[in-house]
Amino acid sequence: MSRTFFVGGNWKMNGDKKGIDEIVDFLTKGPINSSTEVVVGCPQCYLIYTREKLPSNIGVAAQNCYKVAKGAFTGEISPAMIKDCGCEWVILGHSERRNVFGESDQLISEKVGHALDAGLKVIPCIGEKLEERESGKTQEVVFKQLSALLPNIKDWSRVVLAYEPVWAIGTGKTATPDQAQEVHAQLRQWLRDNVGAEVADSTRIIYGGSVTAGSCQELSKTGDIDGFLVGGASLKPDFIQIINARG
Ligand code: PGA
Repeated sequence: MSRTFFVGGNWKMNGDKKGIDEIVDFLTKGPINSSTEVVVGCPQCYLIYTREKLPSNIGVAAQNCYKVAKGAFTGEISPAMIKDCGCEWVILGHSERRNVFGESDQLISEKVGHALDAGLKVIPCIGEKLEERESGKTQEVVFKQLSALLPNIKDWSRVVLAYEPVWAIGTGKTATPDQAQEVHAQLRQWLRDNVGAEVADSTRIIYGGSVTAGSCQELSKTGDIDGFLVGGASLKPDFIQIINARG
């Protein structure tokens, strides 16, 4: 089964209109391989600005949203608002949401469920911390995070799962292709065992954590890595090389 290569950019809390103009400029010039699906996650306040500036073949994602449509939730935004801004995607459960803002597996799962019900496409993120990897708990941790999502995902065709080992995020320590492939294969097997063969074969599982123009090609040659979620390098023209990693 061929899965469309997917490259997401996660700008995190970076940039301003001028910086976004520069990113739009290199993304528009590309050239971008037309067989790669590209989505950029921008700060919520720039959703409309980014959507209006970027060509329509590049998707725009919010980096978070809440689990209900509207109400007294100061500071939050809903999937309906993201759609109203013209955007189709949301990144949920990023390790910074989990570890800096204390979001639980349960909350993230509810957010994923509501975002899907509201018609968004979702990039849920999972991944282990360094101490968990070093104590041999990687598989246990990512399976627990994935199991928590399961009851709230009815339509896997609108889900791109991101495996992002926390020790690799923003640290310059990319997982080796073997390390990443091992976990991706385990996640796909988990989907096969717990959801079904069709979902396991068709769901994109992307890798995130210090992906660079230098590391992306080797990572993209492994059998179960279907693309990347890129932080720091998505702010720079190097992002084009990552988008085109598969040639
Ligand atoms: P990084 O971030 O590429 O800067 O490590 C990845 C992410 O947090 O999604």
